[in-house]
Amino acid sequence: MKEIILIKNGELALKGLNRSAFEDKMIKNIRRRLSDLGKVTFFKSQSTITVYPESEDFDLDEAVERVGKIFGIAGYSRAAVATKDFEEIKRVCIEYFSASIFRYKTFKVEAKRSDKKFPLKSPEICREIGAVMLENFSHLKVDVHHPDLVVTVEVRDKEAYIRGNQLKGAGGMPVGTSGKGAILMSGGIDSPVAAYMMARRGLELRAVHFAAPPYTSELAESKVKMLTEKVSAYAGRIELYIVPFTKIQETIRDACPEEYFTIIMRRLMMEIAERIALKHGAKALVTGESLGQVASQTLYALACTDTAANMPVLRPLIGMDKNDIVEIARKIDTFETSILPYEDCCTVFTPKHPNTRPHLDEVLKAQGAVDWGSMIEEAIENTKLEVIG
Ligand code: ATP
Ligand code: MG
Repeated sequence: MKEIILIKNGELALKGLNRSAFEDKMIKNIRRRLSDLGKVTFFKSQSTITVYPESEDFDLDEAVERVGKIFGIAGYSRAAVATKDFEEIKRVCIEYFSASIFRYKTFKVEAKRSDKKFPLKSPEICREIGAVMLENFSHLKVDVHHPDLVVTVEVRDKEAYIRGNQLKGAGGMPVGTSGKGAILMSGGIDSPVAAYMMARRGLELRAVHFAAPPYTSELAESKVKMLTEKVSAYAGRIELYIVPFTKIQETIRDACPEEYFTIIMRRLMMEIAERIALKHGAKALVTGESLGQVASQTLYALACTDTAANMPVLRPLIGMDKNDIVEIARKIDTFETSILPYEDCCTVFTPKHPNTRPHLDEVLKAQGAVDWGSMIEEAIENTKLEVIG
């Protein structure tokens, strides 16, 4: 039995004239995400995209799993393909549901007929298919209001498709339709969640990670790669830039007042991330900051880091509780990796008494004691690129 995937657009439907461009971007994203699974053809009709595998060995289970993580999709379902012979449609229907039907107690049938020449009209299709289901699965009952299973038979131009309940898609907007942004990616819980959330709003991501070897280990770096990979299941391909930050951090430690360590470090991170973002087409920075979570995330501290970059700094977690962030981290499967105990460059030089009410003029004065220019240049020059996903 041949199976395909039917995809319903999400928020796209609202975008008026842009709709077609959004749809094309979504198809491009789907095509890319499925490209290593074999040849597929895409059909677009109204608000449905049909993913039609061309090769025999196409891994549909894996494809469905991936489709569930692609943004811009409101709902999706697998469907069995039948020729437009009604006897065959009935046969395929029984065969298709026989393995999973024990999960359902009630059902109803819906029919869509875009081929108006098909000999049966929609109500007749519903009635006949309903009868054949009841005949073959004796435990089933019809419930037209709240059925456990909706069997949909769609008669199209060339073939008929039979499907069960639609699954909820990842929602949001297709990655790339909102431009590009650079996520400051640590190895913690928050930044992967922030990345996921902005990708869901259509942002194509670059990631910037600051590493401070030997204070931070190879393992800490591979943890960041793992996290970026997990995010890329949703966000698609991500360019990960790894910035050598040791010299800058040592200089902060040696030349700046301890109470401002973190804030100056964060400012320099912002400055470097912005430079990298600009160089690679990104127009915003994204961080995993959440108001009041740590000393560097008080309103005073955020005001000081904000001015280090000129581009907008998006902080999708700003108003979220840690519990809610963790819930998303679990859902997107980054949590277990995030809590692996490798050090981050932030934690290596954490001051004992950070100033939670830093004032910009004082921070600028403290930061201004050092000429950072050549160190920043050197860090950017020695940045490594890893392409993930
Ligand atoms: P996270 O769980 O994302 O690490 P956090 O609660 O530990 O966040 P901080 O460590 O203060 O908070 O970092 C705040 C934000 O700064 C992070 O969400 C991330 O966007 C950025 N950041 C921190 N450390 C790094 C790093 N080593 N490289 C890149 N970005 C970083
Ligand atoms: Mg952190």
